[in-house]
Amino acid sequence: MALMSVTVDNRGDARYGEVLAEMARRTRAWTGPIVVVAHVDPDGDALGSALALARALETLGKRVTVPLTPPAYLGFLAEAGELAPPLTSLEPGTLLFVLDAGDPGRVAGAPVQGAAAVFNIDHHGTNSRFGDLAVVEPSKAATAVLIKELVDALRVDWTGALATPCLAGILTDTGNFRFGNTNMEALTTAGALIEAGVDYGELTDRLQWRPPGYFTLLSKVMATVTFAEEGRLVYAKLTEEMRGGSPDDDSDDFVGVIRYAEGAMVAVLLKERGETVKLSVRARAGASAQRICLALGGGGHVAAAGATVAGTLAQAEASMLAAVADELRRGTT
Ligand code: 5GP
Ligand code: MN
Repeated sequence: MALMSVTVDNRGDARYGEVLAEMARRTRAWTGPIVVVAHVDPDGDALGSALALARALETLGKRVTVPLTPPAYLGFLAEAGELAPPLTSLEPGTLLFVLDAGDPGRVAGAPVQGAAAVFNIDHHGTNSRFGDLAVVEPSKAATAVLIKELVDALRVDWTGALATPCLAGILTDTGNFRFGNTNMEALTTAGALIEAGVDYGELTDRLQWRPPGYFTLLSKVMATVTFAEEGRLVYAKLTEEMRGGSPDDDSDDFVGVIRYAEGAMVAVLLKERGETVKLSVRARAGASAQRICLALGGGGHVAAAGATVAGTLAQAEASMLAAVADELRRGTT
C-alpha cells in the first residue's frame, strides 16, 4: 500500500533476528564513537530505548553520546549529565543508532548524514527502512522490546539501571498494558526486566507525574472537546494562548483522555505550535490513525499516529475533518 509516496508495511520481517544479530556483531566490533538518537519530541519509548541501549554500550566500554532533549516529565529516567545537547555534526567514524523514528527527517539530536554507519531500529510500519542495517518490526509493542533483544544479543548482563528505561518504553507504548499492542512478548519482556531489578511501583508512579500546570491546562483543553461524524470523531484543541508561555513539552497526553469517549472511533488532539499544528490521532474499531496521518503528511501506527501540518489551527482542523471523514467513509463502504 502506498499513500502520499510513503510506503507502509505493517508486516514483520521473518529474518529480523538475523539482522539484529548482525547489528550486535558489528556493534561489539565498533571502535569509533557511537551516537544514539531517536525521534523528535522523544516519548518514553524513544528516550527509554536510547538510555537502555547507551548504558549497555557503555558496559562494553564504548564511547557513547545520547543527544536527546526529553520533556521534563521524563527527565527522571536520565542521570545528571547523561544526555548531551544536540550535535551539529558527527565525528568521523561514528556509528549512529536511530531508534523509534520513521524516517531521517524525524530524527532529532544529530545529523543522519555523515555517520560512518546508521543502524535503524523501529516498530512503525511507516518506517522507510533507511540505514545500513534496519530492524523494523511493526508487530513489536515498543522499540524497547527490540532493544531488550539487542542488548541480549550484545551479551550484556541486565541491571536495574538498564532495565528501568527499557521497561519505561514498554509501559509508554502499551499505555501500561492497556492498548491492543500488548501481547505475550511485551508482558514476558516486561517480566524479565522487572526481575532484572526495576522498582515497578516507583517507575509506574513516576511516569504518571505531571507538573501542576498540566492540570489547569487539562481543564482548558477539555473545554474545547467537540464531537463530529455522529460521535465517531472526538477532538480537542490546545492553543498557544491556553499554554500561556509555558513550554510545550509533550507531557500532555490529552488525546489519551478523550480517546475513551464512548462511541468514538477516532480521537484527535490539535496542538498549536507557532506556524504549525501538531496532530495526535488515535483510532479503533477498524479506523486507521495511520491512514489519516499519512494523508496529512505524517505517519505512525494504525492505532496511534501523528502529523505536523503547516498553517493555522483552523486550517489544520479543516484538513483533519476532511481526512477523518475520508477514513470513516472508507471504513463504512
Ligand atoms: P503522538 O501522537 O503520541 O505524537 O504519536 C503517535 C505515534 O505516531 C507515535 O508512534 C509517533 O512516533 C508517531 N508519529 C507522530 N507524529 C508523527 C509524524 O509526524 N510522522 C511520523 N512518521 N510518525 C509520527
Ligand atoms: Mn515507540
